[in-house]
Amino acid sequence: MKEQSMSGIKPVATVMEMRTLRAAMEKDGKTVGFVPTMGALHAGHASLIKASASACDRTVVSIFVNPTQFGPAEDLSKYPRPLAKDLALAEASGASAVFAPSDAEMYPPGCSTWVDVQGPSQGLCGASRPGHFRGVTTVVAKLFNIVKPHRAYFGKKDAQQAAVIRKMVRDLDMDLEIVVCPTVREKDGLALSSRNVYLGEKERKAATSLSASLKAAAESARNGEKDAAVLKTLIRDAITGKAERLARIDYVEIVDGETMLPVEKVDKPSLAVIAVFIGSTRLIDNADIG
Ligand code: AMP
Repeated sequence: MKEQSMSGIKPVATVMEMRTLRAAMEKDGKTVGFVPTMGALHAGHASLIKASASACDRTVVSIFVNPTQFGPAEDLSKYPRPLAKDLALAEASGASAVFAPSDAEMYPPGCSTWVDVQGPSQGLCGASRPGHFRGVTTVVAKLFNIVKPHRAYFGKKDAQQAAVIRKMVRDLDMDLEIVVCPTVREKDGLALSSRNVYLGEKERKAATSLSASLKAAAESARNGEKDAAVLKTLIRDAITGKAERLARIDYVEIVDGETMLPVEKVDKPSLAVIAVFIGSTRLIDNADIG
């Protein structure tokens, strides 16, 4: 099937075109919601687009596999890029426009400015993936400047990313509202992710250990266990017990959901956050705890 016959939406490829489209929305007095993505869209992305479309007059989705947030040994070149399917899903979920620029459009030669948020970006994925959040905040700041949304929608699945973006918006006085939407999961609990397509059959089964371990820890906390060390051990054991040798834990932590700093006692609402390699695929997940 030809790309464009699957969807009426034609991707906007240049910053100039996107600015022109945005100016027309401004002239018509429309509120604009924005959903930044790296494409390979699934029901998690769709939930953000739907949330925006129900609250805003217009919804802009961006699809950009941002090279500056990938480390040299990461999956940039094999990251899935099914553009035609993505356009159809974005449109069906309520998007009014899709901004899908090239690398050269976003990072023309000579580009030398970074947005580097300290604090919540430093531990967890920030420690395991040096430079990752600097790439995320730089591209998101650029996208905010191009799309100029009233609201931008992010998934709780990437809780640290959401905390870093919220901090960037506060620290740099960016004039928009950040909305964080719940994680969408498969029936067996696995959080939807564009990277789930990398999982083989056995790995896919082992991957359910992430959400199962978080559920067990949340339940234990509800039943009165407040010691973060005990809860972290419970999570680790649940993952290695269920996924056996297919799982390699990157981190298991219990943190304050805003600062992303570890807590010792779960005596106020906190967040259990985990990153686990299943085979060679790195998956993340999190759950409210306490
Ligand atoms: P990505 O394309 O992976 O960069 O994700 C784009 C946006 O979709 C981010 O705000 C993610 O947090 C969000 N997202 C990804 N997976 C899910 C999910 N399973 N549920 C809700 N939001 C998600």
